[in-house]
Amino acid sequence: MWPRRIVIVGGGTAGWLAALMLGDSARRGGHACEITVVESSKIGTIGVGEGTTAVFRQMLHHFQIDEMEFLAATGATIKYGIRHKDWRRLGHHYDGPIDDPHRVAGQPGQPNFLDQYLVSQGKPVGESHLFQHLITHNRAPYARQGGKLVAAGPHHHAFHFDQALAGKFLRSKARGVTVLDDQVTSLHRHPDTGDLTAIGLEGGKTLHADFFIDCTGFRRRLIGEMGASWTSYGDILPVNRAMPFWVDLKPGEEIAPVTLAWAQKNGWLWKIPTSERYGMGYVYSDAHTTPDTAKAEIEAALGHEIHPRNDIRIDAGRLAQNWVGNCVALGLSSSFLEPLEATSIHGTVVQLMLLTSLLPDPNPRGRDAYNAACATQVDDFRDFIRLHYVSERRDSRFWQDVASSHPPAVTDRLADWASRVPGPADFKPFPMGLPHVSHELHVPVLDGLGLLSPARAKAWLAGRPTLRSLARKTTLASHKDHLQAANRCLPHRAFLVSLQKEPTA
Ligand SMILES: Cc1cc2nc3c(=O)[nH]c(=O)nc-3n(C[C@H](O)[C@H](O)[C@H](O)COP(=O)(O)OP(=O)(O)OC[C@H]3O[C@@H](n4cnc5c(N)ncnc54)[C@H](O)[C@@H]3O)c2cc1C
Repeated sequence: MWPRRIVIVGGGTAGWLAALMLGDSARRGGHACEITVVESSKIGTIGVGEGTTAVFRQMLHHFQIDEMEFLAATGATIKYGIRHKDWRRLGHHYDGPIDDPHRVAGQPGQPNFLDQYLVSQGKPVGESHLFQHLITHNRAPYARQGGKLVAAGPHHHAFHFDQALAGKFLRSKARGVTVLDDQVTSLHRHPDTGDLTAIGLEGGKTLHADFFIDCTGFRRRLIGEMGASWTSYGDILPVNRAMPFWVDLKPGEEIAPVTLAWAQKNGWLWKIPTSERYGMGYVYSDAHTTPDTAKAEIEAALGHEIHPRNDIRIDAGRLAQNWVGNCVALGLSSSFLEPLEATSIHGTVVQLMLLTSLLPDPNPRGRDAYNAACATQVDDFRDFIRLHYVSERRDSRFWQDVASSHPPAVTDRLADWASRVPGPADFKPFPMGLPHVSHELHVPVLDGLGLLSPARAKAWLAGRPTLRSLARKTTLASHKDHLQAANRCLPHRAFLVSLQKEPTA
């Protein structure tokens, strides 16, 4: 039985995604369901500039939300991937474009033959990606032809946005939701089952429901009291503080359609463009530097003063169980890792896709399966993020500590991939075929860090001469096509400005 009344506590990105997706799912299934969102203007939301993955655009498509309307309303920008600067060594950079060229140039049974070919040639795997060319030329994913916008290719791109504006937009799309500005001060639980029956609010109201979603961010107001324990990744991931700040965009400055992740002496700096300003921040280890020194390091790197908006403590990890009784935690209340690969909002959308499929019959087996899937999801993100620290850098105590030894989850895989380029068979699929971190994301990072062997890739292709010749031809042809597509596409900033003038173009 789909719950009749759902209360979502928290009106950040996670809370509004939950309201939108649960409401839509109930309507599609013909279930009568009242949804209430309780948010607190006294507490506010996390408020940082954010990068998404392609899953966010797929979600907009699913809800038939016009992408141009979203971009115009939120001042979001296009993201094709992440530029990793100074990670392998100082002065080196590599890009991680998120489109997979094999989906277009597919060869049955050979899901990574273009990667194999480029690695064998000692060339960056990004060369066969359309998105790499759009990054290099700072282009939008659309050309204007005959007054219409025509897509450069079939791949889903991602976005950078200001969390507060995106939250407001999602809120405007969540139909039939009751919203209360109040604060949860107490929980009422069933004496026998322990399930939540109601929440008490500071304003005096008691809100009864059958199902509760905890989107209260780091406070974990509901799920904490329901007894879910925290699994910390503090011994695996090396950073534990984040110092966000804003920097204005200069008039006329072109906007790079890529997140910058710039490795620093004691962590790394993110730079996420929106159409008005950059959301930036230093993610660092307080075992290696102090907040004052961290600020000075960033000012020296950027060449100007910064005004930190916060200094957030990161307890990297996840809940042991996201779903306890009739309460599910989503967003920051369920897990958090350093934002290196934009896994948080991605994880929330995927978890909601899974949850909406299980809710019609919320039984203990479904609940266990959900908890196991969420745990695997975040553990896999953790290992992928830890891989980024396999570096040649030793120029600070931080890099000496972090890059000289790695957890077995990383070293075992690296030992395996030293002899071959990974493909889909190296990654366990997520339940229901939902999107998950796989070879498409790993290969550019492994390649960028110099962890794939050209000699092994050459040997692999030597035994497959027809495939090798096809890979060579495909790479040459796609290079030409992608360059032409990039030249046709609008400059990124001009495209975004045009949407402000004609939101429904
Ligand atoms: C430094 C940093 C950088 C990040 N960068 C990225 C990124 O690039 N990409 C990405 O995908 N994610 C990123 N994230 C994660 C991302 O911010 C979150 O996944 C996303 O914003 C969702 O947050 P949330 O809704 O869970 O929590 P919040 O935004 O914190 O919202 C919590 C909500 O709960 C309400 N609340 C709290 N307590 C109560 C109470 N007692 N009663 C009533 N209401 C209450 C608050 O008012 C608020 O509305 C980043 C996070 C941090 C900290």
